[in-house]
Amino acid sequence: MKKSFLSIICLLIATNIQAQLSEKPIVYQVGAYKIYMLTENQSNGNAGILIDVPQEILEKYIPDGTFPNAVHAVLITKNDEVWLVDTGFGRNIFKQMEVVGIMPENVNHVILTHLHGDHIGGMLRDKKPAFPSADITLSEKEYDYWISETEMLKLPENNRGNFKLAQNVLQVYGAKVKRQDPISIGEKFSDGIHILDAYGHTPGHVMCLIKDKTNELLIWGDLTHAMAIQMPHPEIAVTYDNDPNLARESRLKVLKYVSENEIPIAGMHVPFSGIGTVKKDKNSNGYIFEKFSIH
Ligand SMILES: [Zn+2]
Repeated sequence: MKKSFLSIICLLIATNIQAQLSEKPIVYQVGAYKIYMLTENQSNGNAGILIDVPQEILEKYIPDGTFPNAVHAVLITKNDEVWLVDTGFGRNIFKQMEVVGIMPENVNHVILTHLHGDHIGGMLRDKKPAFPSADITLSEKEYDYWISETEMLKLPENNRGNFKLAQNVLQVYGAKVKRQDPISIGEKFSDGIHILDAYGHTPGHVMCLIKDKTNELLIWGDLTHAMAIQMPHPEIAVTYDNDPNLARESRLKVLKYVSENEIPIAGMHVPFSGIGTVKKDKNSNGYIFEKFSIH
């Protein structure tokens, strides 16, 4: 009896996760900008990706060695203009875009926080641009890293797949790729959509700030990969970080800024809904994340 009750609960949870994936995406408003959190998938991350994490921290925050994770992309609209920040693996995001009536050819601008496979996986369809009308923005540093043969050859041959995917995407979009010098957090921002540096996870990793008068949202890309650990202990880096020390420095700077200025955030690996606010934890050096759940 107990067992079947548990099975029903598990089934309900599984059904709920599926529903969240195929339903209308979460919508959030930043002044005149409409923000859709597209959810590519939800899964559990593994403690193995955390670098030098003390046993007592693991036991306190993730006793079973796993933590909730997700892959998101963010769709932004203002009147008839459409932006897409990252493209996930390019699976469920297309279904969710269809639900809100936006087709890939309606996207005017794609902003790439960085060129890892879980962010550029949706860029190509049948080897052609999945977003034929869009220009593509990324940082100058990110572009330089991924097109560098020298950097690629530093890796063993069986580990060069991401370089080949990134180079392929850049080549297929050709002249539509716009390299930008990001601005830095703390600078004065005008209304609009800006890219901000948050280097470390990759050499040219950027965030995306949307501002309309007093309304702001920071889409921080891959500033975190394990919220359950990196909010109470933002000093802990992950093996995915290209430069863990620089990634930590960026994370600490951004967390301080968004908590002091009360700027809501969205993250590509922040568990569903992927969007919320960060507050300083008065009793520690860490932070507390409160997610939004607006439909
Ligand atoms: Zn990622």
